[in-house]
Amino acid sequence: MRHFAIVGSGPAGFYTAEALSKAYGDQARIDILDRYPVPYGLIRFGVAPDHQSLKAVSKRYDKVADEPGVDFIGNVTVGRDISVDELLDLYDAVILAIGAPHDRKLGILGEDLPGVVGSAEFVGWYNGHPEFADLDPPLGGSHAAVIGNGNVALDCARILSKTQHEFEGSDIVGHALQALEASTIKTVTILGRRGPHQIAMTPKELGELGHLEQASPVVDGADFPPIEADDALEPGHRKSITILREFAGTPPDSSKPKRMVFDFFAKPLRIEGDGKAERIIVERTELDEGGSARGTGEIYEVPASLVITAIGYSTPPIEGVPYDKRGGKFRNEGGIVGDRLYAVGWARRGPTGTIGTNRPDGYEVAEQVAAAMPAGGGDDRVGVEGLKRLLTERGVMPTDYDDWRKIEETEVGRARPGSPREKFVRVEDWLAALGR
Ligand SMILES: Cc1cc2nc3c(=O)[nH]c(=O)nc-3n(C[C@H](O)[C@H](O)[C@H](O)COP(=O)(O)OP(=O)(O)OC[C@H]3O[C@@H](n4cnc5c(N)ncnc54)[C@H](O)[C@@H]3O)c2cc1C
Repeated sequence: MRHFAIVGSGPAGFYTAEALSKAYGDQARIDILDRYPVPYGLIRFGVAPDHQSLKAVSKRYDKVADEPGVDFIGNVTVGRDISVDELLDLYDAVILAIGAPHDRKLGILGEDLPGVVGSAEFVGWYNGHPEFADLDPPLGGSHAAVIGNGNVALDCARILSKTQHEFEGSDIVGHALQALEASTIKTVTILGRRGPHQIAMTPKELGELGHLEQASPVVDGADFPPIEADDALEPGHRKSITILREFAGTPPDSSKPKRMVFDFFAKPLRIEGDGKAERIIVERTELDEGGSARGTGEIYEVPASLVITAIGYSTPPIEGVPYDKRGGKFRNEGGIVGDRLYAVGWARRGPTGTIGTNRPDGYEVAEQVAAAMPAGGGDDRVGVEGLKRLLTERGVMPTDYDDWRKIEETEVGRARPGSPREKFVRVEDWLAALGR
């Protein structure tokens, strides 16, 4: 019998478990560990609560967890409660699928002022992530800014611009729904250092902005290259640019009080304010020959009492695991980190790609594992029994998939106007729901 530990229960962890389960059948026991008592990683804590169809991918992961050789072991933080070396003693192979939960920094003055938050924090706040439940982002001003030109920036801007009615059917957490209802923000500026052709926004997410109840997108037609330049773009990307061009050609709807302003060719230089964020000092840029942003010397201000940085993420290092500091991920060759040690998903590739990108990634690494460790061998590791013994000695209380289902049943309803979802936002609440 083989014993495998997958660290992290996001998409990458689950797809790898699915692939290993298919490859080994009843010849392997696969444990998916997570620091939280609840599974799914960014499917629960990242993907926008008003995009329920995407969150439904977790149903597929439930099926994986139902396989007889697969279990979820929650409430265990690897690197704190147990080391990777200890896991390697207990298991035939260890697969790191811990994602990239840390916000990348802008590295500019004023970034630490109150009112400046990372997108992981802001997104975690509205999704009920326990670490960010108390974030309390300042929503009392009239202007917010989101720095970044990817889908996460769009998510943050859209959530700030939606009405309570538009959150119907979402699973936004109650504290965020209430705070957003009281928000006075009217303008959200989305800043990108380069132009429309350089965005990393997908058509569906962009298109949504044209149909919001109270907010209109504002795009400056002068930011675009000649329309013939769109011909060279990959079709999906071209579609995104076409949507942006349509926004530029449509005057903002005067019956809608909110604006989402795309400010392209805008490089934040510093964030200023009297003890808190009030404005971003920005330099106008242009593209150089290599397609990078080059400052033009033109400086201007963007008012913002809330600044959300959405410029990427990094994986935190774990003791004893080779780390690529520049890439902000584990150092690996095609997913192989070291002897019997692997990485998948964002911890392997960095924070790019969709949920689906993690599937081939997980399958590829599972193939590497299967090639190195044929089914039928590997009787000298104790696996989960040894893990649970160690955790008990250390006073750690692991949870399993049945516990997760109990938590899921206890969390009630979906968010409706005036009736926020009762969703737990603290580890203690989850454990209390389990009577621990
Ligand atoms: C805000 C946001 C919105 C997104 N929206 C979409 C979308 O709409 N559509 C789409 O296709 N993709 C979307 N993505 C991308 C998608 O979420 C990622 O591709 C995917 O989640 C990456 O999977 P992962 O398993 O590598 O990491 P994660 O999903 O982050 O999972 C990592 C897991 O590891 C656990 N973990 C971390 N550290 C430890 C530790 N030390 N010990 C134990 N466990 C640990 C975490 O708790 C987590 O459960 C979005 C991403 C973000 C950030």
